[in-house]
Amino acid sequence: MSKINGFVGRRNFLKLAGVGSVTVGASAVGSVLWQREPAIAQKPATTETKPQPVNPQAALARLIEGNKRFVEGKRLNPNQSRLRLQETAVAQYPFAAILGCADSRVPAEIVFDQGLGDLFVVRVAGNVASQTAIGSLEFATAVLGAQLIMVLGHARCGAVVAATKGEPLPGRIGVFVEEIKPAVERVRNKTGDLEENSIIANVQYQAEKLGESSTILRGLIKEGKLKIAGGRYDLASGKVSFLT
Ligand SMILES: [Zn+2]
Repeated sequence: MSKINGFVGRRNFLKLAGVGSVTVGASAVGSVLWQREPAIAQKPATTETKPQPVNPQAALARLIEGNKRFVEGKRLNPNQSRLRLQETAVAQYPFAAILGCADSRVPAEIVFDQGLGDLFVVRVAGNVASQTAIGSLEFATAVLGAQLIMVLGHARCGAVVAATKGEPLPGRIGVFVEEIKPAVERVRNKTGDLEENSIIANVQYQAEKLGESSTILRGLIKEGKLKIAGGRYDLASGKVSFLT
């Protein structure tokens, strides 16, 4: 069995996903998709190679520490050397996956002070758990071995603001805004600031959606191999408040 971060490799992922090898395993698409599958043996042993967290709590702690360094102006900019570049060209072992907003002010690697190969980041306006986002996160966890998914919302999120207003939107902007509206409705009658309440509600709603929509993610959670956490990023201070 190929194990990554104590996780399943390709064959077991396919089993987990209920996909037969006849369907995908030997196909051209499959070979392209999986050819970068990491194997522990390929990982170069260097002084910069740090042991990856093997449980969700350690991954969360690493994000908290990184954000603390960012807020305090003590960034280490880890894992950004030429050596790290070479290491990660061979394999990747992201310790966490982020479902974050595409907003230009919330780049996950910077606000969590991480480097190459550390985070598997899915960014889409409003950090919505779309079908493609869920698929990406299934890959990040079941195949690459990330044991934490952080759903990261942020203050003054334009997508959430649009969802609170409910006005018609051009093109396909309305597509992701629609996916935020159920979260807004949960807090529409709540006291306090609707926008701020909606940002929190949207993180919680999208996090719930991940578990509800994906049998793969649900299975990993049940096995104790995955935790889904929520966070709210403050644009002014740079601080992430962890919600769960
Ligand atoms: Zn946003």
